This record gives sequence, structure tokens and C-alpha cells, in this order.
Amino acid sequence: MLIIKDISNLKLYLQAYENKGYSLGYIPTMGALHQGHGQLIKQSQKDNKKTIVSIFVNEKQFNKPEDFEGYPRNKGKDYDFCDQFNVDVIFEPSSEEIYQENEIKLENKYFKNILCDDFRPNHFDGVITVLNKFFSIVKCNKVYFGEKDYQQLKIVEKFIQEKYSSLELVSVPTARSEEGIAFSSRNEKLSKKQLLEFELFHKASLKFMSDLDKDININQANSLAKEFIRKQAIEKFDYFEFRNISDLSLDGSIQETRLFYAIYKGQVRLIDNINF
Ligand code: AMP
Repeated sequence: MLIIKDISNLKLYLQAYENKGYSLGYIPTMGALHQGHGQLIKQSQKDNKKTIVSIFVNEKQFNKPEDFEGYPRNKGKDYDFCDQFNVDVIFEPSSEEIYQENEIKLENKYFKNILCDDFRPNHFDGVITVLNKFFSIVKCNKVYFGEKDYQQLKIVEKFIQEKYSSLELVSVPTARSEEGIAFSSRNEKLSKKQLLEFELFHKASLKFMSDLDKDININQANSLAKEFIRKQAIEKFDYFEFRNISDLSLDGSIQETRLFYAIYKGQVRLIDNINF
């Protein structure tokens, strides 16, 4: 497994792959790797001859400096993780390597003012700005994103259609623990008690969904969701609502939706989306 930190070296290796006609799958991550990332790696290995994982905690997509500083970082473990998964290349550049002076900043135009975009202004600008940079460096055939970050997936889909149309986006279902919660780097920051409470909250949300009359529309479901979330023992939430899976609108029946939530346990913000 190669661990490459600078762009010029990476380009040389990727050029060698291209010369040999190898297909390349790419998984952008912020590290603190877990089984969710593992699913993306496995899918890439099924589809491609070579797989590259980037590890880069992108300051530009954090709204609060303390959230960026406190984001879990697990360098040594991440290398072992990728090694066990037989990843071919880790690309782990520094911030200086990625962001030159006068770096262009992109503005996201899609799925604005709803869900995470509503609560994390400019977050998705930071996401597409860094992806624009990485896609221009890592010339790959397919790129892998998780459904766990569903709004991000939809935004990236639009961005790729618009700017990188030869690149194929592959979406991968959310990997979950036995208790049902989505694997996430942020789960590491939860105490045992918080983790247990979060698992109970997630289970209660699943029960709430399965008890719903499946003939109601999204607005009716969201009225019930409001009542449900008010009764839960959580300190704070940003949203807990059903949205249409194709365009994230509030139109249609609940059969066409997922339930999206962003809740807090202490300072830790946890997001998920659940399908029927
Ligand atoms: P992150 O390192 O959190 O930026 O995530 C990198 C990629 O892994 C993103 O495409 C995420 O959607 C995906 N991902 C994170 N957690 C999971 C999970 N539990 N299941 C599937 N994909 C995930």
C-alpha cells in the first residue's frame, strides 16, 4: 500500500495506472475510518482494478473552528484499516498542498436552505470546493459516496453531472451497527451513556416510522414527526423530517420518503436518514 502526501508524486503513480489501462475507484474521506468507509472501499474493489482513499479533514466545510479542531483524527489506525482492506493508495495531503493562495471557492447551488444546508451555512460550498480540487488531481473512473450523507450525495450528483460528466458516481447504502445506528466518525466522541441513549433514540424513530399509516402524505407525516421529536429525551435537534428521496422536497406520499434527522448528544452532532 502506498501512502502519498504530495500531488506531483500521486500524479506519477496514477499516470502509471492509466498507462496500464487499470480502472481506478476513489473514496474521498475525512479519516477516522470505520466500517461505513469499509463498505465504500469494498464496492470500489469489486468495480475497479485499483482503489484510492483520500484522507483530508477539510477545514473549509466546518462552520465552527472548535468542530474542526475536535474532529476525530486517527492516523495510525487509518493506515492499518486501509492495509487490512488492501487499499492500493492512500492520498493524505496537507492543507497547504490542497489550498494554494487565491484558491477558487465554489458555491453550491443545489438543495439549498433545507436540512443540513439550513443549519450549516456554507458547509456544502466547502464540500464541493474541496471535491473540485480532489477530482482535478485524482483522475479516476468511479467515485464512491455513502447514502448516510444523503443531501451531500444529491449535491455531489448534480455537481458531477455539471462539471465532471465522465466520472461515474456510485452510491453505497448506509452501513449500520447491530444496534441499528449508522457508523460514523463522530460516534467515537460519544460516551457510553450517550451512545446508549442515541441507540434508544434511533430505535424509537424506527418504531415511530413503522407505526405510521403508509397512505398519508409528507406534510401529514411531518406533523406527526414534530409531535414525536418533542417527546424524545434529546437535548437539541436541527431537523427531524420526512423528505422526498428524489428531490428532497415536501411533495408526495411517505412511501417516497426518507426520515432525515440531525440531533445532538452533548456537543456531538449526529445525522442519519432512514428509509421504509
Ligand atoms: P466522511 O469521512 O465522514 O467524510 O465520509 C466519507 C464517505 O463515507 C462519505 O461518502 C460518507 O457518506 C461515507 N460514509 C460515512 N459513514 C457511512 C456509513 N455508515 N455507511 C456508508 N457510507 C458512509
